[in-house]
Amino acid sequence: MNETLQNDYSHLMNTYRPIPVELVRGEGAYVWDVMGRRFLDFVAGIAVNNLGHCHPAVVDAVKKQAETLIHVSNLYRIPVQGELAQLLCENSFARSCFFCNSGAEAVEAAVKLARRHGLKTKGDEAVGVVAARGSFHGRTMAAMTATGQEKIHGGYGPLVPGFTHVPFGDATALHEAVGEETAAVILEPIQGEGGVVTPPVGYLAQVRELCNREGALLIFDEIQTGMGRTGTLFAYERFGMMPDVMVLAKGLAGGLPMGACLAGERAASVFEPGSHASTFGGNPLVSSAACAAIKTTLEGGVLDNCTAMGEYFTKELRRIADKTDLIREVRGIGLMIGVEMERGGPDAVDAFFERDILVNCTAERVLRFLPPLIVTKEQVDEVVAAFGDIIGGL
Ligand SMILES: *Cc1c(COP(=O)(O)O)cnc(C)c1O
Repeated sequence: MNETLQNDYSHLMNTYRPIPVELVRGEGAYVWDVMGRRFLDFVAGIAVNNLGHCHPAVVDAVKKQAETLIHVSNLYRIPVQGELAQLLCENSFARSCFFCNSGAEAVEAAVKLARRHGLKTKGDEAVGVVAARGSFHGRTMAAMTATGQEKIHGGYGPLVPGFTHVPFGDATALHEAVGEETAAVILEPIQGEGGVVTPPVGYLAQVRELCNREGALLIFDEIQTGMGRTGTLFAYERFGMMPDVMVLAKGLAGGLPMGACLAGERAASVFEPGSHASTFGGNPLVSSAACAAIKTTLEGGVLDNCTAMGEYFTKELRRIADKTDLIREVRGIGLMIGVEMERGGPDAVDAFFERDILVNCTAERVLRFLPPLIVTKEQVDEVVAAFGDIIGGL
């Protein structure tokens, strides 16, 4: 297949198995390859391009900021970073923010924060972090250790001490795992890479209660579920409870690389000067992109569209699922939708590609649909029609 490529990729380390297509341009829900072929993008950078590609509000903010000030050190105050922190706190449970450059880094910050908090409030034994099986938290050492997937740990030992894993959705198992020595529980409110796994009704409220009782911080990894993906700015809003700490990245800065660790009342002042830092974290360029992306998400009817399109898309997928044995379950919230297949997940991805549609398969057999939140009914209809067709041929 490689002879179809126009450019040389032989000097890249082999960390991905990319589809042999070279993407060079994007607008809204579409991307174009180097040959001018157009694709309807229902991957959206894996929940990064929530506003679609090259949203004018983000492009304008980046252009203006790039002409004014791209980077200065956090040794100085950066007004737009302060504005971003205020915007995030006004629209969440949080009181304070730390900015970094990726999801994994945000998880590292949250784990470090939790250990310092444990030390201050429970003593120097309280270093434990309890995470869920099937979770994904990133690829750096602590984030990878938190990740509950053995295939991701393979070959990288020794892992970071102090981490344990329990089945996602099992409140009894969590109860047994959390105790005096627990600094934090970290969970994705809906597991993304693990296969778009939604929690059982009442589970997250039970986790909240347990953390309160044991004096452990509850960290929500909303790197994939956040920034409007589930129809509210953050997924926790849908579950009637709040975490103590939340990590964000992916859609945070409209496509620019940025991560954040947010803390509520209990953990807002754990870090002091020198406890943690990041050279690029919250620099003027990414902060202005994030401000523009958040304002657009909150003001532009984006969340309502996400809810409406999510309901419509899910209903249409269930209609297809009802007519075949190939689909085990359609699940998700908002525009974070997974279709668990009996078989043929990767083949379906190829078949969509042949029909100029980008979708992704995760956890081996879960087709994952993560369209931009500005997706139209016509675009959803196109994907539904293609899926009906593809299912017939699998
Ligand atoms: C993508 C993702 C991460 C890792 O983010 P990176 O920016 O790739 O480091 C962590 N947690 C969740 C839930 C994710 O979806």
